[in-house]
Amino acid sequence: MTIATYHCPICGSNFSAAQPLWRCSCGGPLDLAPGPGLNRHDIVATEASLWRYAAALAVRDTPRVSLGEGWTPLLQRDWAGIPVWFKLESQMPTGSFKDRGTALMVNHLIEIGTGPIHEDSSGNAGASLATYAAAAGIPCRIYVPASAPRAKLTQIAAAGAELRPVAGPREAVSNAALAAAGESFYASHNWHPYFIEGTQTLAFELWEQLGFRAPDNVLVPTGYGSNILGLERGFAALMRGGEISRGPRLYAVQAANCAAFAAAWSAGMEALAPFAAGPTLADGIATQRPVRPKSVLRALRQSQGGVVAVSEDEIVAALRALGRLGLFVEPTAATAGAALSRLLQQRRVTPEQMTVVVLTGHGLKAAERIADLFALGSAEASRAEDGKA
Ligand SMILES: [Zn+2]
Repeated sequence: MTIATYHCPICGSNFSAAQPLWRCSCGGPLDLAPGPGLNRHDIVATEASLWRYAAALAVRDTPRVSLGEGWTPLLQRDWAGIPVWFKLESQMPTGSFKDRGTALMVNHLIEIGTGPIHEDSSGNAGASLATYAAAAGIPCRIYVPASAPRAKLTQIAAAGAELRPVAGPREAVSNAALAAAGESFYASHNWHPYFIEGTQTLAFELWEQLGFRAPDNVLVPTGYGSNILGLERGFAALMRGGEISRGPRLYAVQAANCAAFAAAWSAGMEALAPFAAGPTLADGIATQRPVRPKSVLRALRQSQGGVVAVSEDEIVAALRALGRLGLFVEPTAATAGAALSRLLQQRRVTPEQMTVVVLTGHGLKAAERIADLFALGSAEASRAEDGKA
């Protein structure tokens, strides 16, 4: 494939993707030009990873770094008596969907030779980038909120990345990473266009695993919206490839306590509306300032889907229900199960439709927090209790 092009939707500038850019000179986010599209005959069927779709991806060579990302299981389970498909993005190499975007971004950065990288993350993206940087032998520094779950920080440290905890609000973490942009390349999963190039492979997999069909509805936990934009991009590529005539309705799922898109959606706005943010169990989607709000809202509207904001109680109930189906996920991912219950009650999702719930992160990512929710004591305390009985 020839070198791809970046386009800025704000000022209209175009750039070669060979330039080490993470945003436009005007400060806006860059979009990667559409690729050639995907047809089933392009698939490398022997490749059990997202690289089975390499023909549709904007990389020049075969990947230099892969940990077997993608090609995650798609399981059918009953939810409120209705068959639903669960996409286990929790089964990625680092336990979250981020590996799709990270794999494409890191391979692109190797191709253009950016050298050391850094990033800011509430956890999963940082763990993913640290891991792929380790596999690629690239020095990596991750700025994290001092309050991020321990398991996520442990993953970053285990990969040998330099860990920089930042106190204060999430924005302070981003500002620290921005300030370091002169020292090393800012490989931001929220800004870099290649991250969305990777998340589009979720659409390819759903289509292939459902027998070369697009589902009717896809429910996705949403913070910045990289999965929404990836799904839009991927299903558009399948339309260009002549494989499908329409994409699914896309539902962005948010925690009601921190719901930037839900606020804009209910106000009928095309960009962000003011909203109040509080604490939520869904730490992975507690985003106050998404980078591409207009694009995400447009994608939701054009798909004829919407935004669902769920309460903390609904998240806990869904977490328990998923666990009993053998689906141990982090509270952030459980929001999608809660949204499914809501959409079924409202008959916006109906039993005869093909519905996919995207489970974005593994339960082990948040094991300590889930233990608190389930009011589990330590094993020693339990044994002491047993001894008394
Ligand atoms: Zn621009």
